[in-house]
Amino acid sequence: MFRPDLHSHTRLSDGALSPTALVNRAAERGVTHLAITDHDCMDALDEAREAAASLDLVMIPGTEISTCWRSGQTDREIHIVGLLQDQHDAGLDALLRHHQHLRRERVAELARQLRGKGIDGVQQYVDTLDCISAGRNHVADFLIQQGHASSKQDAFKRFLGRQGRLNTPAPWCDMATAIDAIRSAGGIAILAHPDRYRLGKRQLRGLMDEFADVGGSGLEVSYSNLNPDVLRYLAEQADSRGLWASVGSDFHTPETTWMDLGRLRQLPADCEPRAVWHHPDWPSLNAA
Ligand code: AMP
Ligand code: MN
Ligand code: MN
Ligand code: MN
Repeated sequence: MFRPDLHSHTRLSDGALSPTALVNRAAERGVTHLAITDHDCMDALDEAREAAASLDLVMIPGTEISTCWRSGQTDREIHIVGLLQDQHDAGLDALLRHHQHLRRERVAELARQLRGKGIDGVQQYVDTLDCISAGRNHVADFLIQQGHASSKQDAFKRFLGRQGRLNTPAPWCDMATAIDAIRSAGGIAILAHPDRYRLGKRQLRGLMDEFADVGGSGLEVSYSNLNPDVLRYLAEQADSRGLWASVGSDFHTPETTWMDLGRLRQLPADCEPRAVWHHPDWPSLNAA
């Protein structure tokens, strides 16, 4: 049975598993096409392809780029998933390496602010991780381990989220820059988890308008724990805007059972023809 999961993370960003462990878990759970979409990073792909070679699993090149969207008076962090792009494209690689650098600076800044609040050791903790794209999720893990937060939700609510006590700079490129880099590398740019930005309906429409205007070509329509009404709405939005529809669990760790690999609602039948697996570039992968 065809079962794609086109959004997942390894420990090279903020996931819990190595690329090999992720691929094995995906195959065990019946996933047939897997994209690893580490934050601002494609480095898991080589190891994942090697692990997938002996399994009934096709690797789809992927990444999830953090971008900054100016909406009214505030900046929003919007995630753009790239699929099918060339991992060796020089322009895309330069953008990803730059974002990895910004991520290290961001963690250093968060560590500095936490030190000011009497919480020491964040930088040392992150330095011990086998990770290329450090982020707030790692800082949240540290805060939980040290008893300063009771859960991820709590850590984001009290410290790391938009209303949290820390000021978290988000110096990412804008959406157009990320979309251009993905397209120039031969990929398709997908707006990740559109209903997770806590935007009003009008703002969300504005985001999707701008995303499509600057060359974005797909929406994530089905993802973990998605309300069926929202899925229906996103399927309609993809259809009316001529965008591709993608699906992905956004798996980070086996502990979050409701986001496990392949655990997704199918696209509505009338949306299926828009699915990214019908994209003209998709089959060439099988020949590679
Ligand atoms: P960063 O990459 O540093 O911008 O951190 C964003 C990541 O943190 C997301 O990809 C999620 O994995 C995680 N995250 C963001 N908000 C929350 C939240 N409220 N609860 C748990 N995890 C979150
Ligand atoms: Mn994440
Ligand atoms: Mn995301
Ligand atoms: Mn993600």
